Amino acid sequence: MKSFQQLGLDAQLLQAITDMGFETPSEVQEKAIPILLEKETDIVALAQTGTGKTAAFGFPLIQKIDPNSKKTQGLILSPTRELCLQITNELKNYSKYYKGLNTVAIYGGASITDQASQIRKGAQIIVATPGRMQDMVNRKLVDISHIDYCILDEADEMLNMGFFEDITAILSHTPEEKNTWLFSATMPKEVAIIAKKFMHTPVEITVGTKNTGTSSVSHEYYVVSARDRYAALKRLADANPDIFSVIFCRTKRDTQKVAEQLIEDGYNAAALHGDLSQNQRDLVMKSFRSRQIQMLVATDVAARGIDVDDITHVINYQLPDEIETYTHRSGRTGRAGKSGVSMVIVSKSEVRKIKNIERIIGQSFERKDIPDGMEICEV
Ligand code: ADP
Ligand code: MG
Repeated sequence: MKSFQQLGLDAQLLQAITDMGFETPSEVQEKAIPILLEKETDIVALAQTGTGKTAAFGFPLIQKIDPNSKKTQGLILSPTRELCLQITNELKNYSKYYKGLNTVAIYGGASITDQASQIRKGAQIIVATPGRMQDMVNRKLVDISHIDYCILDEADEMLNMGFFEDITAILSHTPEEKNTWLFSATMPKEVAIIAKKFMHTPVEITVGTKNTGTSSVSHEYYVVSARDRYAALKRLADANPDIFSVIFCRTKRDTQKVAEQLIEDGYNAAALHGDLSQNQRDLVMKSFRSRQIQMLVATDVAARGIDVDDITHVINYQLPDEIETYTHRSGRTGRAGKSGVSMVIVSKSEVRKIKNIERIIGQSFERKDIPDGMEICEV
């Protein structure tokens, strides 16, 4: 295993890394950083969630940016506003010893004129959601015609969310000779198409096995009748008093309903979904990060890529339609080498779906009984 020093990073970055408490590079960092520092190349990097992809592109990007030029040199596209803010925060941390280096977040739901004026003041790095970015490009509020690096982060998520056209349009405004760095947990067809269409003989690196959840996550399922779903959830929470979890529902309505019920029943819960205002969402995320909220009830879209340390349990209140979505959900826990549990509450008729997931993620589930609640358990 190599140290950060051996990867060829500048002293300013090494100091920031020490401040953050990172001791050794993760595997994707160890593989990607030297390549990106040494070569001007396109890259496709596949690594599961929680493996440190942000720093894998963030460190080399910061080192390559010229802080003395005010022009925008790096563009990072990311699926959601939460992720944009998270990445921007991280990049600001990484680059704190680079005087004059500025990173700006561009996302929907906030004032476009404020964001445009932040860019005019000079932003060498822009972190943007595809929708808002495309809007700003169209209105000529941003100039990306001279960028050197374009990073597609969580590419599978972005394409899953239907950003193919926005991404294509944005890329058409970037110079031909830039380098494109694509980071993704999985490689569905759409990602392969983007890579083929927009990248020039990219270096490919893969970490761990594609399409599988992190092995530090154990998977459990609980069979209950449909009307006992909520009671089962409460039992699971009661049996784990130190629970710090994300609970996934399929719709905004269910998300809101389950959160409201939990709050009414005295649990430390909150809802996160797309019907909330930007301010409300930021507030919920802040309370969750600071542990004032123990149970975050969320839709898949709202919780995409959210990186909160030490989540103990992911609870699938309802199973998602796509198995890839399950992988992303369970990837919220067991991050940075910690262990975590992904629980699924299913009705009898859904048990075969569990078998499908097992086959695809290559890990088996343990069937468990709802604690202290045999009466609600269908045996
Ligand atoms: P990914 O994008 O692959 O899902 P992130 O970049 O969000 O993963 O990183 C996951 C977590 O691991 C973050 O909390 C990050 O701060 C932490 N992390 C990243 N690299 C390291 C490292 N080398 N040592 C310790 N923690 C790290
Ligand atoms: Mg990431």
